[in-house]
Amino acid sequence: MIEVKIKRLELAHTWTISRNSSDFKDNVFVRIQKDGIVGYGEAAPNVRYGENAQLTVHKIEEAKGLFAEHDLYNYVDLKTALDKKIIDQSCAKAALDIALMDWIGNALQVPLYKLWGLNISRSPLTSFSIGIDTPEIIRQKVKEASDYPILKIKVGTKDDEMIINTVRSVTDKPIRVDANEGWKIKEEALEKIQWLKSQGVEFVEQPMPSTMLEETAWLRERSDLPIIADEAVKTAADIPKLATAYDGINIKLMKAGGLLEALRMIQMAKALDLKIMLGCMIESSVAISAAAHLAPYVDWADLDGNLLIKNDPFSGVKVKDGQLVYNNKPGLGVEGNF
Ligand code: MG
Repeated sequence: MIEVKIKRLELAHTWTISRNSSDFKDNVFVRIQKDGIVGYGEAAPNVRYGENAQLTVHKIEEAKGLFAEHDLYNYVDLKTALDKKIIDQSCAKAALDIALMDWIGNALQVPLYKLWGLNISRSPLTSFSIGIDTPEIIRQKVKEASDYPILKIKVGTKDDEMIINTVRSVTDKPIRVDANEGWKIKEEALEKIQWLKSQGVEFVEQPMPSTMLEETAWLRERSDLPIIADEAVKTAADIPKLATAYDGINIKLMKAGGLLEALRMIQMAKALDLKIMLGCMIESSVAISAAAHLAPYVDWADLDGNLLIKNDPFSGVKVKDGQLVYNNKPGLGVEGNF
């Protein structure tokens, strides 16, 4: 049996990036129950990819029947069937895939990282994201983030210099920046990147629009900082063409359509010698915990979506001083109010 529910996640601060602004997110939660075993999943619909909560619920309802037709232990077959059934609204696929893998872990009584043979002591520290804001609020947010050793700063506006100067006025910890496709002219982007390098920035995420692959390749040739694809990559099929223009990719379960596709992306990125970042949307502990089970595989983690909300309905993998703290419970290791 599969149940679906929309829950409103309230943000601690208004969340602003170069594209848009929000005070809450309506995420879609899934619960699978079969043979007395439960699995939880979550979708975080994103307007950038034409997704919303109602469409996501609809897609999940449409694909539900596949779970009755398959033996859940044959989850590879079920993934193939989901790939055929859900083409857009990849977050809907992610919710079902996460719930499926939680169910598998619970059925086999192992945490997912153990199922995949991963050493959790290899998980990188997670960064904490600071959205676009006034200098006053940015200063306050950076101070509130004192427990996190690495910050990810949203840029991609005409005020980028002010934003970074404001952050640097309160902290000298390592920072990463995400322009969310906000820079449209390659020469200007290069100038910004070289200046950011002088400010102790480690890498730049999606400096230019995902469609500007040639311009990004031009930029990468000249940039002193690694350039990471985010909006330009959703699934494994997108990766080969990016290897000429980017140094790495940001994998998110919502774009990939779940854990199994994310695993495929990890293997492909490694084969192409690309760096791997593991990111998230605004998500509860369900989807964040799911991603955390893959973290030992990656170079950089940015799994802070649940830390930005006030009313997380679940708990699971936690963060202490930037370190992911796993609980050794089976599946995702999450519990809470569905
Ligand atoms: Mg990003």
